[in-house]
Amino acid sequence: MSRYLRPNCRLCRREGMKLMLKGVRCETAKCPVEKKQRAGLAPGQHGWHRGRGSDYAVRLREKQKVKRYYGVAEKQFMRYVSKAERIKGNTGETLLMLLERRLDNVVYKLNFAPSRKAARQIIAHGHIYVNGRKVDIPDFAVSIGDKITLKNAEKSKKRIKDQLATNTSFTAQPWLQLDPDTPMATVVAMPSRQDVQLPVEEQLVIEFCSR
Ligand code: SF4
Repeated sequence: MSRYLRPNCRLCRREGMKLMLKGVRCETAKCPVEKKQRAGLAPGQHGWHRGRGSDYAVRLREKQKVKRYYGVAEKQFMRYVSKAERIKGNTGETLLMLLERRLDNVVYKLNFAPSRKAARQIIAHGHIYVNGRKVDIPDFAVSIGDKITLKNAEKSKKRIKDQLATNTSFTAQPWLQLDPDTPMATVVAMPSRQDVQLPVEEQLVIEFCSR
């Protein structure tokens, strides 16, 4: 699987918005997107002022935004698009819902990890259990009723409890019921479009991918 190894902040600057890829740093004044002189400048030594661009460029940027926000590779993203096209309903919204149900996104949204990248690491290291079974696949799709627990090891629980105590500005998700004391969570509903906090025109993403 291809991995992006260059600075994450470049991705946010390229999209001209905060994609929250670096955890705690994203909430501070150190975020380059927060700094006035960087706003509206694409990465690169000199940067350049962003214009609206052609129809193609606008759609490409919307697609890249979604892909980078969820941290999925191009091939995998296109697999999500094909899957969304086969499901009845609004394809753009379905695509976002499929991405939102990824286990790494769920772990991040539960505040078990400071970023999706950190969530992927926690999952890959075997700290997360779903319905009592270890799941070390970050793209595992959660369903209603799934119970997300931690490995029964003091180290795993301490790590997550520390994270829960550190990030107090976190917003609870209506589709995920969290018990911070255990800690464990239950998926009580499917995510809706309102639960996706990314300002994106999903229809343009589908238009780009269906060219
Ligand atoms: Fe970097 Fe986070 Fe700011 Fe994005 S939101 S530019 S990842 S600090």
